[in-house]
Amino acid sequence: MTANLELPKLDTSKGAAFTSDQVTVVFVLGGPGAVKGTQCNRLVEDYHFIHLSAGDLLRAEQNREGSQFGSLINHYITEGLIVPQEITISLLKNNIEENYKKGNTKFLVDGFPRKMDQAITFEEIIVPSKFVLFFDCPEDVMLERLMERGKTSGRVDDNVESIKKRFKTFEETSMPVINMFASKNKVIKIKCDQSVDEVYNDVQKNIKDRL
Ligand code: ADP
Ligand code: AMP
Repeated sequence: MTANLELPKLDTSKGAAFTSDQVTVVFVLGGPGAVKGTQCNRLVEDYHFIHLSAGDLLRAEQNREGSQFGSLINHYITEGLIVPQEITISLLKNNIEENYKKGNTKFLVDGFPRKMDQAITFEEIIVPSKFVLFFDCPEDVMLERLMERGKTSGRVDDNVESIKKRFKTFEETSMPVINMFASKNKVIKIKCDQSVDEVYNDVQKNIKDRL
């Protein structure tokens, strides 16, 4: 799929672009439909974070006129696969740098890192994360929420076939990343088979002393 395309280069020779004093990054992880986006929207209102959703950035790049990565991204998203880190990290890096120039220094990086290489590269070339918010949700609840969302989302991957593939990718590829951060005591785990307000109360209680 990437055979004829030149992926953006990630320069790992210069170290991190920012220090943790300059920029705060909170990674937001959880299975598909676990409520990441919904809770990020609440946090943006109350804590003035900039919300960068890896999935939203990839969909915007896919639809950008002139993008050479449109069909590649469409393929990965439909199949529930992890888009190559060169594309995903370049989009995040550009956004963080542009925002920083405007004086924004606090970021919720949602749906990222979903694979170990991304976790390592991001912290190496952008900034080490502060902590990870992990929304833990049973698959049957996520499935129900995504099927409901699929009625109006227009997303190519909110259907049973893609959702099952996304669950598999999450278990096999993304859970090891969460476990790695947990082993460093960087994970705040939130149960999300409860109402939006209840989930958010838990989030607020748990992040209070970490920001
Ligand atoms: P993610 O960003 O993790 O894919 P979303 O935030 O888009 O998940 O949530 C998935 C779907 O579930 C959305 O349609 C959203 O409106 C709905 N939703 C979010 N939080 C809750 C909740 N606590 N209870 C029920 N449905 C929810
Ligand atoms: P989301 O909007 O978070 O549900 O993500 C939708 C899809 O976008 C995923 O199933 C992946 O195909 C792709 N995607 C999202 N985040 C990433 C990421 N961090 N790295 C690679 N691909 C991603």
